[in-house]
Amino acid sequence: MPFSSLGLSPSLLKAITAQEYTKPFPIQETAIPAILEGKDILGIAKTGSGKTASFVLPILEQFMRRQLPKNDEVKVLVLVPTRELAVQVAEVFQTFSAKLPRPVKTLAVYGGVSINPQMIAVRDAEIVVATPGRLLELISTNAVRLSAVRILVLDEADKMLELGFADEVNQLIDQVPTRRQTILFSATLGDAIDTIQKNLLRNPTKIEA
Ligand code: AMP
Repeated sequence: MPFSSLGLSPSLLKAITAQEYTKPFPIQETAIPAILEGKDILGIAKTGSGKTASFVLPILEQFMRRQLPKNDEVKVLVLVPTRELAVQVAEVFQTFSAKLPRPVKTLAVYGGVSINPQMIAVRDAEIVVATPGRLLELISTNAVRLSAVRILVLDEADKMLELGFADEVNQLIDQVPTRRQTILFSATLGDAIDTIQKNLLRNPTKIEA
């Protein structure tokens, strides 16, 4: 199945070709149309499966279709366990977004660096890719709110639990509107992730990669 049959706009297809992706990986064949339909996703997938593009591309497509409003509030929140993953995922959004008619403003926020530049940059971010602790700090200083978030992605959810972020993740989820699309990726599906997915996801499309 070619990328062109997944429902993505010509300018995104061009950006995909520019990355030399010739055909979708299996996870992308299933996830891209499902996310475009607004479905929740439970993805059991490891790094290397192509999981990042499987949510980045349909989220950017939703911006292109104006299904997500154009303003400076955070519409998409991606929670990740580590600074490295925050930077990596934000870069994938930026790479595919750069050549769109209206690039989508994406920011990585993570701890271990000065908070001040992030406090300024987050003011006009539409997509935020964050580690939980630093995002809570930004919220507590009123630098950002999550009340306009329409899509919540939990990436490497099992690793977030392993690193002890469950409380912080829950505090953040409590601040995201319940009317939203939720996408959860985990490398493994154990009891803890199963409980979380049952609480968070509504009739999800399940994908194993
Ligand atoms: P990920 O599992 O998201 O970390 O992606 C693993 C690697 O696969 C990254 O280097 C991506 O750039 C690459 N990749 C993702 N999707 C495709 C595709 N359809 N064709 C070729 N490479 C891809």
